[in-house]
Order: sequence, then structure tokens, then C-alpha cells
Amino acid sequence: MLIQKFGGTSVGSAERIKHVAELIQDGKRKIVVLSAVAGTTNALTEIVEDLYRGNKVAVEEKVAALTKHYEALVDQLFTSQEPKKEALTALDTHWTHIRSFTLDMFTRFEERTVLAQGELISTMLMQFYLEERGVKSALIPALDFMRIDQQSEPDMWYVQSNLERILKEQKGIDLFITQGYICRNHFGDIDNLKRGGSDYTASIIGAAMKADRVQIWTDIDGMHNNDPRVVKHTRPIRKLTFDEAAELAYFGAKILHPTSIQPARKAGIPVELKNTMEPEKLGTEISDEASGDFIKAVAAKDGITAIKIRSDRMLLAYGFLRKVFEVFERHRVPIDMITTSEVAVSLTIDSTERLDQLLEDLREYAQVEVERDQTIVCIVGHLLQEEEGHAARIFGALSNIPLRMISYGGSKNNVSILIDSSWKAEALKALNRGLFDLEA
Ligand code: ASP
Ligand code: MG
Repeated sequence: MLIQKFGGTSVGSAERIKHVAELIQDGKRKIVVLSAVAGTTNALTEIVEDLYRGNKVAVEEKVAALTKHYEALVDQLFTSQEPKKEALTALDTHWTHIRSFTLDMFTRFEERTVLAQGELISTMLMQFYLEERGVKSALIPALDFMRIDQQSEPDMWYVQSNLERILKEQKGIDLFITQGYICRNHFGDIDNLKRGGSDYTASIIGAAMKADRVQIWTDIDGMHNNDPRVVKHTRPIRKLTFDEAAELAYFGAKILHPTSIQPARKAGIPVELKNTMEPEKLGTEISDEASGDFIKAVAAKDGITAIKIRSDRMLLAYGFLRKVFEVFERHRVPIDMITTSEVAVSLTIDSTERLDQLLEDLREYAQVEVERDQTIVCIVGHLLQEEEGHAARIFGALSNIPLRMISYGGSKNNVSILIDSSWKAEALKALNRGLFDLEA
């Protein structure tokens, strides 16, 4: 069994939907998970805000705009009149449903119902299109099997037993279409897996069905070794471990949310990142298997604030770090990077919302210096400590860049370096040349 998830841009127009419909017809038994058509979830989010404000006129306007958008899409998608009419009628019930929420008080439950419409629509259109083309497929509603528990964790037992039952009922069919993102919660109400949750859906289904692999199809050919917005030449990374992928995802490679692949990871199922526009390209495979090059990629995270905390009391004292960490905990500020010396500790944070109060509290114990506009450059790979030379190569490449903080050995997958953001482009270029032999 194969799980294939297609994101919003992959089903972003009639042409794209047709293209995906071709791609998924390779005869393999599979479940296809679809996002909402690009832009739809954003539009629905805005409608939700209008509904909370009781702004009927704004709701009407936005629903009218969606109606127009989808009418054009339907017109381009279908060739014959019958499915066209069917699709338009179905769309109409979705719009009427959304409009009905202007009639009385708008609730949290209704909010999630509105947000669910995007995926319900995209999968409905795909199923009608496949039917028009005479393709044997079945639409299986995610709301019949996808459920989260009281802790908002996927209820794997529920998902698995219901999905197995539903698939068994569909005799002679190997192509199943379902909605990403939407689910039921432990009350049985409509809920969702948070923005970007369709990847999570695919990974949960993959784990529940013990699939051979989960494929996430987007509009780039996998994760790249460097940031293409900064350096000219990058290349896709063929293979990554789950740990390496998680580091990269956190540090800037926006292509995948690290938690979204947890279920697949736990079940030992490889996750593949593929490009819808260039399906023949290999993309990136994420699995438990370490492979190939030691250093796989570099990524950067901007908007970092460095806090340097110094206290003579720290010299040979214990309990100082605890005090420092307690301040961060009290203000609920997560720490990213940390380095220490005998009398000082430097930390980085990526949110400055509570910075002023935090600093005030820290100054009770220590002298504190703050530097904003910093960037963490993260070098990811399997940097086994027994292998010599990694550090030398990294720092050799960065020999002309002033380094503020260095964190090495925290995990065997990552070296993090803090620099002033004004040096970011130069650092990423230097690493591209020095580590990957690529022109910058
Ligand atoms: N449509 C939802 C979103 O835009 C879920 C997803 O696409 O993953 O966040
Ligand atoms: Mg109501």
C-alpha cells in the first residue's frame, strides 16, 4: 500500500488536478490524501473571522469570490455537462452551509466545520473528475476514520480499525481518495490537525495501514542542501534520516513540519518528498537508514536574539544555571542554542515577545547583554564524533566569517553556529563551496 499526499498548489487549478489524476493512476494500490485547493484554507480562515465578528456582508462577498473561482475551475476541469452540473450542485451545498452560519452565534465547533470545507471540496472534485474519466476509484471520507484523542494525538487504534473496515467494503478498488487535515476529535465533532496538517494525515494513514511508503508531493524536488533563495546552486538531498530531516525542517527548510512525519517514523515507514511538476525526479527519501555523505545540508534561521548572561557568582557555583532556566520557564520562552563558559552562559531565543520582562528578571542575578538580528546556521548530517575532520572542514569554510556562538556535540546530527544576520548570505555561500563543492 502506498500513501500519496498532494498539497494545495499540486491541486491548485483544473490543469493541476488533471495532472495529479494522471500521476495517481499507476495501478498501485494506494490512498491519495489531498489538501484544499491553494488559497482556499486562507480564504476560509478569513471567513471565520468575519463570522465571529458577525460581518454578514464580508462573508457574502468572500463566499461569492470563492463561488466564482470554483465555477471557473469546474468549467475547465470537466468536459461533459453531467459531471459539471453535479459538481456545481455539490459546491452550492458547501457555500450554503458556510452562509448558514451567519444566522446565529458563531461557535468554535462551527469554525472547524467551515475550515473543513476546503478539503471536502478538493476531494469531491477529484473523485468526480476520475469518474468522468472512467477511472475506478472511491472517495473515503476522512471524517469516517480520522480521529484525535483528548490529548490531540491521533487515535491510532480507531484510525486503523475503521480504515481497514472501510477499505474492505470497497471491493475491487485500489485507488482511494481522502481529505487531508480534517478529522474528528474525542467528542466526535469535526476538528482539524492544524495548518499544514495534511502531511500529518498522510503520515498517520501510512502508520495505520503499515504502508510501504508515504509520499508527500509538493512543488519542489525534495529538500535541498542549501537555501536556494541565497545561493545559486543547490541540489536535492537523496537520502536523509528522520533526525536529519527534523533538524533541517526546524532550521528553515519549510517543506515539511517535523511533527507531521512522527507517526510514519514510529512505524518505521519511509517518507518520500516528490515534485508534482517533475515526477520523474528522485526527490528526497527520509528513513531510518543513515547513508552517503556525512554532511548533508545547511540551513539558516533568522530573527534570532542572543542573550549573554554573566555573573561572577557563577564561578565554581552550582545552581546558577537552574536559576537562569527558571526565568525562561516562568516567561515561557523556549531556548534554541546554548553555550557556557565558567562565568557566563549565552543563549538564543527566537521570540522576543516577552523579552523585556525576561531581561528584567535575569538582571536580578547577572549582567545581561542582548544582541538582536542574529542568524543560526545549522549544518546537518551524521557527524559521528569518531570521524575526524568534520569540524575542520566546517570552520575552514567559514574562516572569514565572525562566529558568535558554536554548538557542537549536542546531537550527532547538527552543528549550529550563530552569526550576525548581515553575514548570513556570505556564510551560506562559503559553506556551499567548502562543504559541497558547489558554486555559490
Ligand atoms: N489546507 C490546510 C492548510 O492549508 C491543510 C494542508 O494543506 O496541509 O493548512
Ligand atoms: Mg451558530
